[in-house]
Amino acid sequence: MIDFHSHLDLYPDPHTVAGECNARGIYVLSVTTTPSAWIQTSALAPQGSRVRTALGLHPQLAHQRKSELRIFDSHLPSAMYVGEIGLDGAPDFKPYWNEQMMVFDHVLRACSQAGGRIMTIHSRRASSAVLDRLEAFPNAGTPILHWFSGSKRDLDKAIALGCWFSVGPAMLAAEKSRTLVRHMPRDRILTETDGPFAQIEGRSAMPWDAQKATIELATLWEMSEFDIEQLLNNNLRRLVGNNYSGGRLGGADYRQLSEAIGKRTESR
Ligand SMILES: [Zn+2]
Repeated sequence: MIDFHSHLDLYPDPHTVAGECNARGIYVLSVTTTPSAWIQTSALAPQGSRVRTALGLHPQLAHQRKSELRIFDSHLPSAMYVGEIGLDGAPDFKPYWNEQMMVFDHVLRACSQAGGRIMTIHSRRASSAVLDRLEAFPNAGTPILHWFSGSKRDLDKAIALGCWFSVGPAMLAAEKSRTLVRHMPRDRILTETDGPFAQIEGRSAMPWDAQKATIELATLWEMSEFDIEQLLNNNLRRLVGNNYSGGRLGGADYRQLSEAIGKRTESR
């Protein structure tokens, strides 16, 4: 099971949630909202687990935390994954648009200079602008648009730019999103939950609720749940492999991941 966008550090008892993820063997991308949270959040990942931590600066906090870009830059060499980053065009955050753009551009430039990163990206009411910036920084790495909710036209552009997508149960509950997902390339999809922010059945989503997204995808694409799981595992392996198999920063991570996924597939 894969939850490629989870805010582990924001659960009331993050250690318990991280431990449960480890016990269940879930591959989790634990995203952060501020660079200063990265070290502590990284420490949540149990030794030998499939929990990975992304270095982020959330667009909703850009105006308050832009001074932490220095911290972002200092951690970037040791971070394989970057996020949550992006832009937010909702009324509450539009007043800080210039700061958001400054922060997002800084992050994309830094990622480019560092040789590229796997990036999980927020684009609420800002998908066109996010895509423009990604186009301006083509070497920033592999963008994964989390909970993409833009237009069909933006989706087409995102696909052309090489974006990936992570989709969760809360997102898949909306018919508009389901229509978008039908058009997403199957070989560039991962599951996520966006917990604890995202709600399922009136409670915070947990990383293992990613299974619900797998089931939804099976229905949507008329595939078996097993085939969807294989597809998702292959996608994840390819994503990490494409970015890191060249012996760069994550070579060891890729090998470990490949072995873990391989073992799991064989044990079925
Ligand atoms: Zn998020």
